[in-house]
Amino acid sequence: QEGLFQKIIAHAKEYGFVFPSSEIYDGLQAVYDYGQNGVELKNNIKQAWWKTMTQLHDNIVGIDAAIFMHPNTWVASGHVASFNDPMIDNKDSKKRYRVDHLLEGKADQLVAEGKQAEADTLLRKMNDLLNANDFDALRELIINEKIACPISGTVNWTEIRQFNLMFSTQMGAVAQDADTVYLRPETAQGIFVNFLNVQKTGRMKIPFGIAQIGKAFRNEVVARQFIFRMREFEQMEMQFFVRPGTEMEWYNFWKETRMKWHRAIGIPAEKLKFHDHEKLAHYANAALDIEFEFPFGFKEVEGIHSRTDFDLGNHQELSKKKQQYYDNEVNKNYVPYVVETSIGADRTFLMVLCNAYTEEIGKDAEGNEKIRTFLKLHPALAPIKAAIFPLVKKDGLPEIAQKIYNDLKLDFKVFYEEKDAIGKRYTRQDLIGTPFCIAVDHQTLQDETVTIRHRDTTEQERVKISELRNIIEKEVSL
Ligand code: ATP
Repeated sequence: QEGLFQKIIAHAKEYGFVFPSSEIYDGLQAVYDYGQNGVELKNNIKQAWWKTMTQLHDNIVGIDAAIFMHPNTWVASGHVASFNDPMIDNKDSKKRYRVDHLLEGKADQLVAEGKQAEADTLLRKMNDLLNANDFDALRELIINEKIACPISGTVNWTEIRQFNLMFSTQMGAVAQDADTVYLRPETAQGIFVNFLNVQKTGRMKIPFGIAQIGKAFRNEVVARQFIFRMREFEQMEMQFFVRPGTEMEWYNFWKETRMKWHRAIGIPAEKLKFHDHEKLAHYANAALDIEFEFPFGFKEVEGIHSRTDFDLGNHQELSKKKQQYYDNEVNKNYVPYVVETSIGADRTFLMVLCNAYTEEIGKDAEGNEKIRTFLKLHPALAPIKAAIFPLVKKDGLPEIAQKIYNDLKLDFKVFYEEKDAIGKRYTRQDLIGTPFCIAVDHQTLQDETVTIRHRDTTEQERVKISELRNIIEKEVSL
């Protein structure tokens, strides 16, 4: 499966989806750029999320808050005090590891050896010790389990230390006047501090939600697995404000609703699962992840958390500004509880890409076996919806094809090409996941029909030019 993942990473680069950041300077670790096809795919993912949240739910509105926030925000949220990862260094290789990653790796190994019970015990112990911040005992656990550094192979470990994951910078031009500000490590706080602004100006009634898509930054110490864990990434978060006591009802509602969304964008049920958290973050009273089966195993794509009044309560205390809502159904003022859904746009991108990457054994024109690689993307997410090709560069075919292209481009992202043999042109579209290829041939001159080729089956059918718009329209909506 590692081989498959490497192929997907290479494909992403080769076909203009994802490039290492500032590659001419050998890249910047855990930072990536999206190319001409990647940006379309990512925008389509974000649009699918935004539309589902803010258009299909009457009681959810969006905002776009700034990345910089008042430094007190991160005191109230708990990030200054506890947004840390316990880390340990191997003295021989000088490599640094996240303690939980090392122990989870060991647990995976135990599971692979059929020792499920031992793995469970180990994870339970780890969670207890992490919750208790007992670093000495955690180090002992690593040593007792004989966990070796993957690079040096030795068990020569340092003490455990903590690193804050927030990036900081100075605001203001004069150094001594400068104030430390942070690049937000999550988008959620921009929503919390605007809770009353939106509630009042939008005349929102509880329960209601606020959605946001935006960049977040974390100085992840162990950044790996391509765009799975980045230092600069994008989150799509929705905070749903509810009456205290109803939070579990909404938690279950969002759990089911979000799973349906993953299915709707084309991820098969068997590659998705829920994972309930045993170890709860400092702000949550219930939490679960939606996990996808990546080539490197089931991993989190989205988190659903019941955050109680932790954030609004802390902001109220620190800012001395009431964060309350008057609920006239129960005649009460209260600080609302929050259920959030938090999903990474980049991680969703990776999920979609891994799920779409397909290699199929087919036959070439001479009947020889060959592998056809294509991206089985949901048409709603595909960077290009249709490619229009004249079969040959003469006899008036390019003019007709261009007319079709010019008509369709008002509604869809489409592509026109007349160079190379048509088989080659089909292949290029398969590789970037274009669901339809439309070919104009000599028959078109007689009866105004074209062939439309379906990416997944490579089957072609003849349709009227006038029907094209409807055929595409039907497939490209979620
Ligand atoms: P992890 O355990 O993988 O570090 P997390 O539990 O800290 O993630 P949350 O804080 O719940 O993640 O963030 C919500 C979502 O944001 C995650 O489900 C993931 O999709 C995305 N996300 C978080 N950190 C990163 C990152 N460093 N790179 C890319 N996406 C991320």
